[in-house]
Amino acid sequence: MLEEKIKEAAAELSTCKYVVVLSGAGISTESGIPDFRSPVSGLWSRANPEDFTIQSFLRNPGRLYEIGADFFQEMMNADPNSGHQAIGELEQKGLVKSVVTQNIDALHQKGGSQNVIEIHGSLEKARCLNCNWEENMDDVLAEINAGTVPPRCKECNDPVKPDVILFGEAMPPAYQEALYEARKADGMLVVGSSLVVSPANMLPQYVDKLVIVNREETPLDHKASIIMRESISDVLPRLKEEWLSLVQN
Ligand code: NAD
Repeated sequence: MLEEKIKEAAAELSTCKYVVVLSGAGISTESGIPDFRSPVSGLWSRANPEDFTIQSFLRNPGRLYEIGADFFQEMMNADPNSGHQAIGELEQKGLVKSVVTQNIDALHQKGGSQNVIEIHGSLEKARCLNCNWEENMDDVLAEINAGTVPPRCKECNDPVKPDVILFGEAMPPAYQEALYEARKADGMLVVGSSLVVSPANMLPQYVDKLVIVNREETPLDHKASIIMRESISDVLPRLKEEWLSLVQN
């Protein structure tokens, strides 16, 4: 049954001229990084979303680091899994044109993707909200481990913020690039996203052919021609093989 669906998905995507991948936190769970909304294992079963708002950061910048530093370190130490690698290879072979990701963990790049649009920013950097000074997260984490919480800007001494979008912040310019890619695309492969976070979940509406790989239902399932409610590692490496074999024959 799954094998059949993988073949159908590969056939569907192989008819497209411009395929964009839209990924969410679910692609990185098999790299050991919890997502937000999976039952039990998701972060929201043990953390409070209120602590991840810009208002909370401005009130008390140290709090985000007190509760998040271990999680940030985990993300920075994680390795890409077979899902990231399959997408990287599909881009190198010219079948996937770009990856729009809601993730902040930089694992697509580590898995071989080059054209990655990070619409929620990247945890690899931190930035000063006052003077825009940028610092590597490795250095920021070293500072925290040495007892400086919150870590401070080397230029103006204001607290630095991870270079990711907190709840309540405006979307970065990368979202305009993502919109452009979605409008240009005729096919989209959604992997590991609950598709409940806006505006990322607006992007699939622009494509004719939508394939979704996600363990749980999403609000856009009705728009998809093929849905695989399976683990990404069970689908993506096989989908890559099938898709490559169709275009090589
Ligand atoms: P989400 O937590 O809302 O949904 C993740 C979905 O992935 C769930 O529906 C779950 O069923 C599915 N899933 C989990 N593991 C899977 C697997 N191995 N195979 C198939 N499906 C799997 O995540 P979202 O839609 O990306 O949106 C929430 C936000 O999460 C984004 O803003 C993102 O920035 C943030 N986030 C990112 C990371 C990361 O960078 N790795 C981690 C946690 C949260």
